[in-house]
Amino acid sequence: MIHGKTLQQWYRDYPLLEKLVALEECSWFNPAVTSFDDALPHVGLGADNVAEASARLQRFAAYFRAAFPETRDAGGILESPLQAIPAMQQALCQRYGIEPVGTLLVKLDSHLPISGSIKARGGIHEVLKHAEDLAVGAGLLRLDDDYAKLDSDAFRAFFGQYAIAVGSTGNLGLSIGLIGARLGFRTTVHMSADAREWKKRRLREHGVTVVEYPTDYSAAVAEGRRQAAADPYCHFVDDENSPELFLGYAVAAERLKRQLEQAGIVVDAEHPLFVYLPCGVGGGPGGVAFGLKLIFRDHVHCIFAEPTHSPCMLLGVLTGRHDEVAVQDFGIDNVTAADGLAVGRPSGFVGRAMERMLDGYYTVSDDELYRLLALLQQQEGIALEPSALAGMPGMARVLTENQGYRERMGLTPQRLARAHHLVWATGGSMVPAEEMAGYLRRGRQA
Ligand SMILES: *Cc1c(COP(=O)(O)O)cnc(C)c1O
Repeated sequence: MIHGKTLQQWYRDYPLLEKLVALEECSWFNPAVTSFDDALPHVGLGADNVAEASARLQRFAAYFRAAFPETRDAGGILESPLQAIPAMQQALCQRYGIEPVGTLLVKLDSHLPISGSIKARGGIHEVLKHAEDLAVGAGLLRLDDDYAKLDSDAFRAFFGQYAIAVGSTGNLGLSIGLIGARLGFRTTVHMSADAREWKKRRLREHGVTVVEYPTDYSAAVAEGRRQAAADPYCHFVDDENSPELFLGYAVAAERLKRQLEQAGIVVDAEHPLFVYLPCGVGGGPGGVAFGLKLIFRDHVHCIFAEPTHSPCMLLGVLTGRHDEVAVQDFGIDNVTAADGLAVGRPSGFVGRAMERMLDGYYTVSDDELYRLLALLQQQEGIALEPSALAGMPGMARVLTENQGYRERMGLTPQRLARAHHLVWATGGSMVPAEEMAGYLRRGRQA
């Protein structure tokens, strides 16, 4: 019995489950998606919260300019490029046997400064919020101060009284660890077994304590949470339930809006925007999707992508059981090469908050991620880590699968011809060269 039902009963109630359990690639377009106005009250957060996070990142720009010289050219704002990838679009259309319609874009969060992944948005924001609260609370900082002063021995000594801890498959730990240690916090990262050696090494080089677990992500998080709870001076970054992470991710949307405007790209009823987001626990893609919905409302269509071995969000939303179910309950092993996506149990907060706002979910095999990795490198000269490719098959899924979905959403051929498809590329610029060479080899052979 699995949560009160036999596997056969589960299959009868949710026929798609059979494909998920068989580790077959599949897509599911959400029949419960509603208009933005109907969905918003269920989120529990609003535009004000995102604006606060945005203003905070603006206040910290002076700190970044002082502490991280690589952010100076961008004025201390951590942001990534947006670009069209026409050669990749052609290659994907050939690969999946579809006609090219619309325009394919990529958002290169792989190239975000400091930690080279989407976690440089949410993870860093949460640490900044905590640091600001402490410093303001102690009377050492005012919101209208020049935050460059935080990059000083005096502030590092102050933050050194406090600790920060996080459980991670790698990239979140990298972001929290690098910013936490630089601010002066005593920082501990609880790493799951699948975390890459180079990420652990890099953290240790920066004075972060790395604790390794032979288990998966959920277990590392649980143990980290338990240890942190015993220390009243320790703040635990809770990837499974954190509004501050979520809001840090959501700020991406107003930045993307400016980039789209600069590129002359219109988003409205006649020009829909599809966004494909790799999903682990759900905070990153959920936060970005929420920010995008606040701005583009019903004209943006957000779709989550997961590995076939870790379809935790799809499982949670499909069954309505959210964080009560883990993929392992159904015999799915949660073993994937996609760092950041090897998550067996989704965030209950994100799954419930966002289920009315998301158009769909799909899975991709690890072999396909590697093939796409090599293809993108060949076509566009862009090298990403495997998880960051999960958004690439999304365009073909939308254009070819489930006619009912396109009709329901008013996605006529005319509108699809004017659509933009945006693949959110979530990590990869900091992968060491020899590791990347291995990824490319595997992609060419797969
Ligand atoms: C963490 C991560 C994701 C997904 O973010 P979640 O908040 O875990 O859903 C996607 N891609 C990469 C590279 C990541 O590190």
